[in-house]
Amino acid sequence: MEYKKITEEDIRFIQNIVDKDRISQGISNLNLHSIDQSHHKPSLPELVIWPIKEEEVSGILKYANERFIPVTAWGAGTSLEGNSIPVDKGIVLDFSMMNRIIQIREEDFQADVQPGVIYQDLNHKLRYKGLFFPPDPGARASIGGMIANNASGIRSIRYGSTRENVLRLKVVLANGQIIELGKNTQKTSSGYDLLRLFIGSEGTLGIVVEATVRLRGIPEHFSACLVSFKDIYSASKAVFQIMRAGLEPVCLEIMDSNCIKVVNRINGLNLKHLHTLIIEFQGSSKEALKDSVDMCEQICKDLGYKEFIFGIERDDYKRIIDARHLLGESMRKYHPGRVHTVTDVAVPISRFPELILFAEKLTKNIKIPAYIFGHAGEGNLHLAFMVKEEDSEEWHLVDEIKDKVTDMAIKLGGTCTGEHGVGIGKRKYMEKEHGDSLFWMKKIKELFDPHGILNPGKIFP
Ligand SMILES: Cc1cc2nc3c(=O)[nH]c(=O)nc-3n(C[C@H](O)[C@H](O)[C@H](O)COP(=O)(O)OP(=O)(O)OC[C@H]3O[C@@H](n4cnc5c(N)ncnc54)[C@H](O)[C@@H]3O)c2cc1C
Repeated sequence: MEYKKITEEDIRFIQNIVDKDRISQGISNLNLHSIDQSHHKPSLPELVIWPIKEEEVSGILKYANERFIPVTAWGAGTSLEGNSIPVDKGIVLDFSMMNRIIQIREEDFQADVQPGVIYQDLNHKLRYKGLFFPPDPGARASIGGMIANNASGIRSIRYGSTRENVLRLKVVLANGQIIELGKNTQKTSSGYDLLRLFIGSEGTLGIVVEATVRLRGIPEHFSACLVSFKDIYSASKAVFQIMRAGLEPVCLEIMDSNCIKVVNRINGLNLKHLHTLIIEFQGSSKEALKDSVDMCEQICKDLGYKEFIFGIERDDYKRIIDARHLLGESMRKYHPGRVHTVTDVAVPISRFPELILFAEKLTKNIKIPAYIFGHAGEGNLHLAFMVKEEDSEEWHLVDEIKDKVTDMAIKLGGTCTGEHGVGIGKRKYMEKEHGDSLFWMKKIKELFDPHGILNPGKIFP
């Protein structure tokens, strides 16, 4: 696609739509919006705009569509696969000023929000009402960015990903038209499910300007356990057996011993230097929780655990979860001068041990620091590497391993991305994963965005 460069005339026109204080061509603003949290190459946009109203978004898109100017939406820039990098330049729409919690409707367990709301800020407000919005990617992500990437987190095993927690969207299409998708109801069978189509579309089909999200009650009781194993295969088998036993943990995370070394050093924890499962149960009574913990211990014992700690206090557990959320950041601090890159494959839960074993074998004897962790209860594996930025041999080896792990995941009936989205880095796997249906995905893209202005260079190979 031939895109048009932004001219002085374009800027004059846009100044009629948006107050000129909220438009910038300043180099520091362009730089800030040229990267996300991934290793992908920066690409400078030509213009950054901070909209505050849906009419502004609509006016900008209508104009950009007529002029063939690319438009990339920007939430908080915490993506891990280049999703928000404006690879074809053009306009970045930064939603950080469109960040109003419009309404909390407690009695419906729903909240209406603008896309720039940071999900922790929403949860902070909801805390006093005994409610929360469950998807929790850990980084300070915007709800618009979470919707676009279909983000999830450590509690998605119980509450689902963002897709399961959004009921309604207001979206601006490439031609500037504003439409509503979904309903403020728990269920609907009415027509095609465009809501779910737009969730996870990475800003390539339309721009979210409002969302109704689903809220849940904060459970009264919780019980957290840490289980350590000498070998990671046994830890991963425990994951499968806990799930098969129907124990329904709220969180079931795996961290290999290398991750433990990092969180002990950087986050000041004092965990056993072994492969570790973090498990949390929630419930309405302490007795029910005790039964789950006892059964969980028996399963782990049969698999030869080295240590089983339970009854962890709330504050201590929070420190462990915070450290898990910040793992990527901590790896960067542990390996200064090296760059972080991570896989995000997911497989059916019964195949998780096989995948872990495969990843472990591939990384066992390499000199590049490698880490295995993930949302194990959902079969979601992150294999992270800390690579020397200028070392092409290291990058070559890491890319080869990432490709092999992704091929294996797809072969096991899985996906190249459980939660980070396709962005730039996973486009090469789309054909293998989706086969003939990729053609229909392209058709949908052409239908909604015939000029290809919305976040070009993403998802499709
Ligand atoms: C330390 C760390 C830990 C993380 N852990 C997790 C994790 O556990 N699980 C997980 O899922 N992710 C995780 N992530 C990745 C990241 O936080 C999520 O992908 C998040 O959803 C990105 O949100 P954002 O607001 O930063 O979006 P951005 O990065 O700004 O944008 C993401 C995508 O959304 C599009 N977009 C933004 N706003 C809109 C809008 N209004 N309308 C349409 N499209 C829009 C962008 O164009 C882009 O394609 C982690 C990241 C970091 C840095």
